[in-house]
Amino acid sequence: MPATVLITGASRGIGAAAARLFAQRGWQVAINYHQSEEAARTLAASHKNIFAVQADVADRRQVNHMVEEALCQLGHIDVLINNAGIARQALFTDVTEAEWDRMFSVNVKGVYHCCQAVLPGMIRRQKGKIINLSSIWGMTGASCEVPYSASKAAVIGLTKALAKEVGPSGITVNCVAPGVIDTDMNAALCEEAREALREETPLGVLGRPEDVASLLYFLADSQADFITGQVISPNGGFLIV
Ligand code: NAP
Repeated sequence: MPATVLITGASRGIGAAAARLFAQRGWQVAINYHQSEEAARTLAASHKNIFAVQADVADRRQVNHMVEEALCQLGHIDVLINNAGIARQALFTDVTEAEWDRMFSVNVKGVYHCCQAVLPGMIRRQKGKIINLSSIWGMTGASCEVPYSASKAAVIGLTKALAKEVGPSGITVNCVAPGVIDTDMNAALCEEAREALREETPLGVLGRPEDVASLLYFLADSQADFITGQVISPNGGFLIV
């Protein structure tokens, strides 16, 4: 039976790179998208073992429907990658309550919804892996990204606590906290800011989505069976703790 993975927010960026890698390695892959239907459909059309399902991870009803669809197509879910996320730069004093709520609804509640929808099947099978995307900013904090940093710190707390709770059911829960990765999320950065980030990075380059995808694959694979509750940060040395 082929291994199966559900990746949220996989129409673009890190999620799409992960979907390609898992598909190339023979996994059955369910990719979730929210608004980028064309990109998701194009990715699914390019691999016979990828299929796309729409859902706003902030909405529990839509998440439940997404997981039902994924189970219909895949039979079971071995690995859940909670990758969907949003970021926004603003002065803390300008952040509206609606912006704060949306950040937490997608970045934190989305993880809660997806874990709760997928866990009953994993617990029944006494087997499964969950990988949550945090960020270096959730570890160290970013100026002008307080809601994002707080939401990504919450994902780290959620990961550690859930790893303890579901470990006895044979399920691992880990966190990947990337540094600056060259995706649409950073598309608004001017060349000067990108250069400054490169200079601050010991390896002297920004990360590529594939750099994160390979770590996600490692954590999803049986090689990582004894790793749980950990935060692993592919960041080129930008943050060394
Ligand atoms: P990206 O290129 O902006 O792509 C974001 C993805 O998330 C898209 O596929 C988008 O789907 C999806 N998404 C957004 N809101 C959603 C929602 N409500 N429901 C379902 N899907 C939703 O981002 P990325 O750079 O690949 O980032 C992926 C993850 O890594 C995020 O959690 C991000 O916080 C984290 N991360 C990124 C960086 C970085 O430097 N890029 C660094 C650290 C951590 P649609 O386009 O279909 O709406």
